[in-house]
Amino acid sequence: MYTLPHALQNLVEEFRRLPGIGKKTAMRLALHVLHSSPEEATTFAEAILHVKENIHLCRNCFNFTEKEICSICEDRNRNQRQICVVEDASNIMMIEKTNEYHGLYHVLGGVISPLDGIGPEDLHIKELLERLENVEEVILALNSSTEGEATSIYLSRLMKPLGVKITRLARGIPLGSNLEFVDELTLGKALKSRKSF
Ligand SMILES: [Zn+2]
Repeated sequence: MYTLPHALQNLVEEFRRLPGIGKKTAMRLALHVLHSSPEEATTFAEAILHVKENIHLCRNCFNFTEKEICSICEDRNRNQRQICVVEDASNIMMIEKTNEYHGLYHVLGGVISPLDGIGPEDLHIKELLERLENVEEVILALNSSTEGEATSIYLSRLMKPLGVKITRLARGIPLGSNLEFVDELTLGKALKSRKSF
């Protein structure tokens, strides 16, 4: 049986580990790297190393940043009295694209999911509560999965006694959907017509 040279096989396997990449695509990507110039291949490999070395989470909101505090937290022109709570940092980019929101964010780092062994203490919930002084509104913008819904309810029960206004994205975001797959227009509308929780 024919087997690929070890180094090539190895690269194919690494590509296959990436989300959404099947066998055929992994092979195509590996061959692309093989056919590229040594400089291109080095630039590619270095980009992977640099992202691991230089990107970490904002001390305040857990967004990606190269500094201690992310550019959103640092921006004093943003509304400091609004915090939009999202599941992961990629959701921030989605909401930013809508241009409908100019407050701050807080990345939970997931949702409560007993089946996966993820409890409230595994998320950045304590840090969220610590940020609520002087905050008027918390917008819950979690994915509308069962776990996202349960986490929103958990958070609103926790925060309501603190006297902060809690809102959530308006319906229009299909149930069970990931914010990542909702178009900007729909997300922008859902944000604009958000409802009290
Ligand atoms: Zn931040």
